[in-house]
Amino acid sequence: MNGFSHFFLVLLFLSLACQWWLARRHIAHVCVHRHRVPRVFAQRIPLEAHQKAADYTVSRTRFESVSAGYHSLLLLAWTLGGGLETLDRAWQSLALPPLIHGVAVFLSVLFLTAVLELPLRIYRIFVIEQRFGFNRTGPGLFVADLLREALIGLLLATPLLALVLWLLAPQGDMNLRPWWWFYVWLVWIGFSLLMLWLYPALIAPLFNRFTPLDDQTLLDRIQRLLQRSGFTSRGVFVMDGSRRSRHGNAYFTGLGRHKRIVFYDTLLHLLTPAETEAVLAHELGHFRLRHIQKRLAGSASLSLLGLLVLDALLRQEWFFTGLGVSQPAPHLGLLLFLLVAPVFGFFLNPLLLRWSRRHEYEADRYAAQQASATALASALVKLYEDNAATLTPDPWYSAFHDSHPPALQRIARLLQEQPLQAMDAHGAAP
Ligand SMILES: [Zn+2]
Repeated sequence: MNGFSHFFLVLLFLSLACQWWLARRHIAHVCVHRHRVPRVFAQRIPLEAHQKAADYTVSRTRFESVSAGYHSLLLLAWTLGGGLETLDRAWQSLALPPLIHGVAVFLSVLFLTAVLELPLRIYRIFVIEQRFGFNRTGPGLFVADLLREALIGLLLATPLLALVLWLLAPQGDMNLRPWWWFYVWLVWIGFSLLMLWLYPALIAPLFNRFTPLDDQTLLDRIQRLLQRSGFTSRGVFVMDGSRRSRHGNAYFTGLGRHKRIVFYDTLLHLLTPAETEAVLAHELGHFRLRHIQKRLAGSASLSLLGLLVLDALLRQEWFFTGLGVSQPAPHLGLLLFLLVAPVFGFFLNPLLLRWSRRHEYEADRYAAQQASATALASALVKLYEDNAATLTPDPWYSAFHDSHPPALQRIARLLQEQPLQAMDAHGAAP
């Protein structure tokens, strides 16, 4: 234990205390509003659905609090508890070449973390989601998903880790390569872009079936929307999301001209064609307004900053000894950094989420111009109800957790957009 250990402990305690405080506020806020549907939604959402949303929110928030405590304990066990050191020693007995040793330690931490998190995942799906009628995953599919994820994770992580560790320190000791952080940064950007391309084309089809949309009326609407807003797409697909869960979604994905539109079957069952069109227009808005590029640029800048901080930390012995590792090694430094970074990052969350919520408002405004604000508003109301999402989150909790604006503000803004849409319909400039 050194000064850095104390600093880390204080920050870990503060972030956990903050999460628990926010969760308590959120639960109290939701419970106070449980007896009455907010006026704006009173005509659309029955009291029974509103109360189900409140109960679901309370269950999930309690579960998040328990998870946060459990994750903090795991983090302590890995670091100050000596877990990482013990694991590294165990692998050292095999006397592997340093790079292979580094990759092996890294992969075993990832594997053990996944195993230790399994009870939480099982509880979330088979107890909470089950109780509120959202779960459609059976034990067979659950196990098959785990195996698929593990295999894909192994195939992607092994070469990436080997490359990163080699770039960091070619001999696997503390002789760091000059400018390593810059090369690793380039590799990371390349990997992110590769995943953007690989995920829809190769990975998602391993988990779900994608069939071309065959509803001609809806297809015509979508074609007209795409033309109006100047997009081309490589097809409109329906994904069998209902295999796993009743929650619905839609996304627009891919790079350059290889974009594809994907609707969850659950979403198509829920929404009318006009509402579906409005939801798609919102997704198109994220592309047209360059949110995707901005987010990529944002995460690239943050990772560059992170790598520079890591470069400085790797040269300090107190960083290792302060986190329970007596013998500095590059793979352990990287692992420690990835383990503790979220504790420091927690306090950055509200800023990043505010940025994300601003993008959501902008995409909503785009949807109001290209499609219909009222259709988007009614789609959102249906989605809130169907997903049992609370309409009355605690504002502080929301600031720390929500990537999307709270229901009331979002709908209110959308309904203000309506005059703009009427203007467009009369031939004003787009
Ligand atoms: Zn959005």
